[in-house]
Amino acid sequence: MRAVDIIIKKREKEELTREEIEFFIRSFVDGSVPDYQASAFAMAVLLNGMTPHETTDLTIAMAQSGQTLDLRDVVDIAVDKHSSGGVGDKTSLAVLPIVAACGLPVGKMSGRGLGFSGGTLDKLESIPGYRVDLSTDEFKKQLKEKGIVLTGQSLDLAPADGKLYALRDVTGTVPSIPLIASSIMCKKIAAGAHAILLDVKTGLGAFMETLEDARVLANLMVDIGKLAGREVVALLSDMNQPLGHAVGNSLEVIEAVETLKGGGPQDFREHCLFVSAHMLVLGKRAQDLTEGRTMAEKAIADGSAFERLRVLVGAQGGDVAYVDDVSKFPRAKFVDVVTAHRSGSISRIHARTVGEASVILGAGRAKKSDAIDHAVGILIHKKVGDKVATGEPLFTIHANDESRLAEARHMTLTAHFFSDSDVPPLPLFYD
Ligand code: URA
Repeated sequence: MRAVDIIIKKREKEELTREEIEFFIRSFVDGSVPDYQASAFAMAVLLNGMTPHETTDLTIAMAQSGQTLDLRDVVDIAVDKHSSGGVGDKTSLAVLPIVAACGLPVGKMSGRGLGFSGGTLDKLESIPGYRVDLSTDEFKKQLKEKGIVLTGQSLDLAPADGKLYALRDVTGTVPSIPLIASSIMCKKIAAGAHAILLDVKTGLGAFMETLEDARVLANLMVDIGKLAGREVVALLSDMNQPLGHAVGNSLEVIEAVETLKGGGPQDFREHCLFVSAHMLVLGKRAQDLTEGRTMAEKAIADGSAFERLRVLVGAQGGDVAYVDDVSKFPRAKFVDVVTAHRSGSISRIHARTVGEASVILGAGRAKKSDAIDHAVGILIHKKVGDKVATGEPLFTIHANDESRLAEARHMTLTAHFFSDSDVPPLPLFYD
């Protein structure tokens, strides 16, 4: 087989065989297929698509390109979750402790921020000492002993995806549904998940802006999971405005802590309860969503969910005093409350622009090598559908640099749209 023939076949819109896909991925990982051929392959897939079978074969080939984790000796059912990425999405920080407190052990490997979209690892690193580099053995030991793990992806898991993703990022080939689906699912399969809850975001702050595209991606990932023998549920959730109020690393950790203590923004709490209920059903701890939700509510109310967060932070070397007393998190130098210049109802908060403004502040990376400033970010005070009076606080910027503050302030203001008439709140989930 020759890589060039496989590229040509895809260019001509023909369906690739499993053997061809396996050969291509194997050769890419061992270095005999150079980056320029892998880039051409990615572009051919972006332009001509893949059938669900090809996408499944690509997923399995990438999942098997490195180590795979077998969690059967550690847990009865390994339930994993994945969010397709968004702004203010700190769901894992709250949901994992909730479901662990309900008796479902959960171990998750998360990622870093990508462009305007935040990453769980960057958020966790706001907690001094917190380790995101557990080895496979440490992962399994902690899952068995503590029932909760939240760490980074170990280097040898699905290396084909890491290599291909780096090329996609710089060759304009990220927004391809088969490539996104296989990239997400190969990591979940390699990490040993038996059941997977996918939180597929749609809207202005998501990779899939339209509901139709998000649905196609969700259905494809469910099909891949089924063909790979996994149980998969996908939720289509809103990302037209930031989730909750906080955007930025330690601000989001604080919001997750408040939510686990029974407070937090209503939309974020609801989102977490629904995701938790689904995970509890997938993990066979709850018979149905109603029971799952009741269990999740109880775990928040009786303090056991917050206690699981303390256990998680302590087990991974983090300073538990920070979650016990969130005022310990370093505060940014400038805290600027921006007020509404007019009255009305909030009709739109352009989530992507808010995410980009937080990157300007230093909460995300413009280049891979950029350092993260964990203290900076934006607190959104009004959500779509809320009424605002002139002079009322609209959002607060936490910044460590005056010129970045000015830019982020301007961007976040332009992200807010007003209406003179009543505006209904946005749904949290579409399906
Ligand atoms: N997240 C991933 O892991 N891969 C993609 O391609 C897009 C989002």
